[in-house]
Amino acid sequence: MLKKLSLISIACLTCASFSAIAAPKNVIYMIGDGMGPAYLAAYRYYMDNPDTKVVERTVFDDLWIGNASTYPDDDTVVTDSAAAATALSSTHKTYNGAIAVDHDHKPLTTMMEIAKAKGMQTGVVVTAQINHATPAGFLAHDKSRQNYDQIADDYIDNKVNGQIVADLMLGGGTSYFVRKDRNLVEEFKQAGYQYADSWTGLKALNKLPALGLFAPKGFVSALDNPEPLPLKQMTEKALELLSPAEKGFVVMIEGSQIDWCGHANDIACAMAEMHDFGEAIKVAKAYVDSHPDTILVVTADHETGGLSLGANGNYSWKRDVIKKVKHSGDYIAGQLLALKDDKVLYQAWLGLTGLELSADEQQLLSKARAEGQKALAVAVKQRIDHHSTTGWTSGGHTAADVPVLAYGADKQVFAGFQDNTEIAAKLIQFIQQKK
Ligand SMILES: [Zn+2]
Repeated sequence: MLKKLSLISIACLTCASFSAIAAPKNVIYMIGDGMGPAYLAAYRYYMDNPDTKVVERTVFDDLWIGNASTYPDDDTVVTDSAAAATALSSTHKTYNGAIAVDHDHKPLTTMMEIAKAKGMQTGVVVTAQINHATPAGFLAHDKSRQNYDQIADDYIDNKVNGQIVADLMLGGGTSYFVRKDRNLVEEFKQAGYQYADSWTGLKALNKLPALGLFAPKGFVSALDNPEPLPLKQMTEKALELLSPAEKGFVVMIEGSQIDWCGHANDIACAMAEMHDFGEAIKVAKAYVDSHPDTILVVTADHETGGLSLGANGNYSWKRDVIKKVKHSGDYIAGQLLALKDDKVLYQAWLGLTGLELSADEQQLLSKARAEGQKALAVAVKQRIDHHSTTGWTSGGHTAADVPVLAYGADKQVFAGFQDNTEIAAKLIQFIQQKK
């Protein structure tokens, strides 16, 4: 259901100042889930060339232009991804868990619905399941982010002028789309969508509308994924497919699992996700260079984990330790748990992390192994944090402001401090200006 949305209803304090600017034809909106400012600093130092005295700037630094607050519509000030996605897609604050609905569960119109009504093409690209909170906040309406099946149903049932909202969906989630009670993949095919469920299939997609589901739920973490840079690959395909759109396009591309690594307090995992997201941003930036009628905006929905570079009074953050870690903590724990004998534990540890441990630390690892996967994964990550002096204050989200990055002719509109709802309002104003 598409409500009429007038410009007056958009709470945007800084919008009036740019109403004279010509609206870009295309919008590339990228969201690093959980990507607080410390993640950008961490990635910069992680990527630093140790052979030079200066610390080189990353693509994030090159585009960084402002900050945003992320508080939800209650007094907690700490948002979840659903309320944040709603703010970033619809300009409206709501309660944690809400998928583009207000406190009375009434649908809030999203920028994808507005774009669709304007005849633009629309897409979402994620490495979580495609019906996870962030993409859901752009395409569906539900009182709870936990209603995964209903949200997936909404991707085909929620129509704008009789049309499905998204022309392109790339991500994970076959287990929600192919179910006993409903086969949404078949329904999308019948509605004319090309379908891919493999990386070869992704490459073969050659027109819209299209649906690509490459995992039962979320993807394997980028650090453990044999497929290199999955988000970058999907971003390239998405821009290739959306580019011919006569009236332009709006695409939301999410670095979904930066957040998951943050929840897991796994720094090596987080850096691998930041790398994939950064490489995807480079693809989008190059697209803006060759299509100057495009605006690229990158932000985060919230910070996750309370990441600190330097911990416990140590004035140093040792990236070389993190660079040697070959897999996520969960994966390493699984490998160590599968060993036949404790005697080869340290040898296997060295092969997976390259990190030398004291005899006491080896004992800690051995003890955790006896306790099982969960305890061992925690012990693995604690050793890496200890030696790299990485700190975390939470296994959840924090209320830290998030970075705002922009690129393209209209980028100044996003400069300075703003609320997350204002980012949506500015983008919606661009979309609304279309004839
Ligand atoms: Zn989260």
